[in-house]
Amino acid sequence: ARPIIAIVGRPNVGKSTIFNRIVGDRLAIVEDKPGVTRDRLYGVGEWLNQSFSVIDTGGIEIDEEDAILKSVRIQAELAIEEADVIVFMVDAKAGVTPSDEEVAQLLFRSKKPVVLAVNKVDNLQRQDEIYEFYSLGFGDPIAISGSHGIGIGDLLEAACSHF
Ligand code: GDP
Ligand code: MG
Repeated sequence: ARPIIAIVGRPNVGKSTIFNRIVGDRLAIVEDKPGVTRDRLYGVGEWLNQSFSVIDTGGIEIDEEDAILKSVRIQAELAIEEADVIVFMVDAKAGVTPSDEEVAQLLFRSKKPVVLAVNKVDNLQRQDEIYEFYSLGFGDPIAISGSHGIGIGDLLEAACSHF
């Protein structure tokens, strides 16, 4: 079986954008069971000669703070169980939010390796935007931009180093 990378984070940080960049059209399975797993997308990615599965834990996005936190928590827990490596995604433009801290708590408790990816660093001149994310406690944040295709190789390099 391929090793599994799960992309975890609150809604709107860019998980699906990055998932699509990594997976392209190699969408393996779309979960279609009733219940909480229905919105998880599975795909196949490759970095150098390593192939792996990717989970987009996008999930249920409801316009209510408690519901968002709850759905993020459930999705993150499911992904933690399945994954070999977790990509914890946050948003440089939004900064650290309470929902990010909520996800961080969950990931801390897991024994899985976590790679912290700061998305929406659209301009490499703006690398200073990543420093505040050290406060989440997952070490060096990796600057990426899903819309500009920046940093994806660095992210996959870091993730695959844990297989
Ligand atoms: P998800 O909810 O975490 O899956 O996030 P999405 O992938 O749906 O993206 C949420 C929003 O952020 C969309 O409007 C995307 O176009 C935008 N977005 C994603 N990646 C980037 C990025 O690198 N830079 C900027 N500026 N916007 C982005
Ligand atoms: Mg999504």
